[in-house]
Amino acid sequence: MAESIPSHEHDIIVVGGGAAGLRAAIAVAQADPTLDVAIVSKVYPMRSHTVSAEGGAAGVIKANDSLDAHCLDTISGSDWLADQPAVEAFVQEAPQELLQLEHWGCPWSREPDGSIAVRPFGGMKIERTWYAADKTGFHLLHTLFQTSLKFPSIRRYDEWFVTKLLVADGRCCGITALELRTGVMHLLGAKAVIVCTGGAGRIFPFTTNGAIKTGDGMGLAYRAGVPLKDMEFVQYHPTGLPGTGILITEAARGEGGILVNKDGYRYLQDYGLGPAEPWPRLRAMELGPRDKLSQAFIYERQKHRTLDGPHGDYVLLDVRHLGEEKIDQKIPFVRELARRYVGIDPVHEAIPVRPVVHYMMGGIHTDLDGATPLPGLYAAGEVACVSINGANRLGSNSLSECLVFGLVTDEARRINERYLHKEGGRERIAALRTEMQTAMERGAGIFRDETTLRQTCATLADLRGRMAQLRLEDHSRSFNTELTAAIELEFMVEIAEAIAHSALARTESRGSHQRSDYPRRDDARFLKHTLIYRTDGTPRTDFLTVGITRWPPGERVYGG
Ligand SMILES: Cc1cc2nc3c(=O)[nH]c(=O)nc-3n(C[C@H](O)[C@H](O)[C@H](O)COP(=O)(O)OP(=O)(O)OC[C@H]3O[C@@H](n4cnc5c(N)ncnc54)[C@H](O)[C@@H]3O)c2cc1C
Repeated sequence: MAESIPSHEHDIIVVGGGAAGLRAAIAVAQADPTLDVAIVSKVYPMRSHTVSAEGGAAGVIKANDSLDAHCLDTISGSDWLADQPAVEAFVQEAPQELLQLEHWGCPWSREPDGSIAVRPFGGMKIERTWYAADKTGFHLLHTLFQTSLKFPSIRRYDEWFVTKLLVADGRCCGITALELRTGVMHLLGAKAVIVCTGGAGRIFPFTTNGAIKTGDGMGLAYRAGVPLKDMEFVQYHPTGLPGTGILITEAARGEGGILVNKDGYRYLQDYGLGPAEPWPRLRAMELGPRDKLSQAFIYERQKHRTLDGPHGDYVLLDVRHLGEEKIDQKIPFVRELARRYVGIDPVHEAIPVRPVVHYMMGGIHTDLDGATPLPGLYAAGEVACVSINGANRLGSNSLSECLVFGLVTDEARRINERYLHKEGGRERIAALRTEMQTAMERGAGIFRDETTLRQTCATLADLRGRMAQLRLEDHSRSFNTELTAAIELEFMVEIAEAIAHSALARTESRGSHQRSDYPRRDDARFLKHTLIYRTDGTPRTDFLTVGITRWPPGERVYGG
């Protein structure tokens, strides 16, 4: 029976074909061409969420800027929870990475004199965001994808869905993956696995995230016993379109767009984000950090100063004063999205916007090298908590053999019994998913407190139990999207629980985590990362000291 499962051996498996996955695979291929690398992705790589990034990528390049300034912006932006050695390494490498992309063909936008153009971005006190018009992610991903094609040692498994990490003798030694075209479960063995599966915005009802962002990689690691770190920190982006959640990039504000309430008033000046200055001096205000802007929206709503539409409350993002020429040159995609999805032309009308879930600060616990506590398992990109693109230190991993056929047989049987061949279940995917999203928005949204968090935790525990009663209509093998939706929902419910329980444990307010019952930051007790471990019942939380080097905790000041 075990032999009937097709198996494939590689030196290194990268799960995910977005920016992090492709960059990691290229780094391995460059570091050692004798290593063979597999990229396994549930969608064709160019459909990864990276493609939809609009605004740009930060890296110090101009004479008025410095690495220390970028570090300090990042650290204070993180409300001092970032590990400073990791920030320093990241800030130092970022410009070299962006130049590398340039050499691989990324068409960065230019100043009139031919040098790299940079634009202001939220929370950055100096302009340092490189961009390719407002389709940065598309160009960046295309550049990486095309570069990856040059390496014969990289083999791709497109539209293969990873369901489990294989662990033997305390080491990660491969994965199981469902080949979506045939519905056949495969085993892929490797000496090391790098998880680059992106974020989990789909746990929430309003999000900028594509439908594939269901936290699979976090779920895979969590189930393999690896802790998730800082899961309570969920970033809301202040300007999503009501209804769809489609992102209106921060570049719209970087280029001079302003936020106004129903009275046409620039309300951000009321929330410690600096005075209203005549355009184009927008360094604070609209370019304050995302957490504070999203919180300001909630306060405006409490004061009944937001507008009311078919998809709930909203405010207005006004770019009309930029003029048609600048809008078409700098943010053409914003115009296209507003016209297509809300039927208004931003040259003539203000765009309705509201905060929507955008990014997971938390993720798989890794060290500076991307290593997780499980030997053989690495993580990079949005799925990881310390995000280091690239995997050039993997060459030193020792090679070891794993006997995993038994594990694989279990996984194929588990999927069959739980979903494909089950009779009599009464729960439906869409209904459970909506209950989960509603519970998250209600209990673990922009503001949280103990009562709502406890209710959300209870709802999620109930949902986890009801997952066993899931009924699937489609029992076919080929491209069974109902089956993948069920597996994704399983991951999402567990990640949602990790978020809610982490938020319950942190009885303070910091950055994107705002507890209305504990409104102050509490450095004495909580200058710490949260670690959360999966158990069969309530998840277990623990804490880990933050690495502070040159920047002692201070107050976050914007504008003024
Ligand atoms: C609309 C939008 C705009 C953004 N704009 C910006 C911006 O301007 N600047 C910026 O810095 N950041 C931006 N971000 C954030 C940034 O784009 C992402 O954090 C980043 O692209 C994530 O890259 P990644 O490689 O980690 O994951 P992704 O690009 O999400 O790729 C994940 C990969 O994992 C694969 N995968 C997932 N689950 C499985 C599974 N079970 N089996 C197999 N494969 C799997 C997918 O197929 C995919 O290839 C934006 C995000 C969004 C949503």
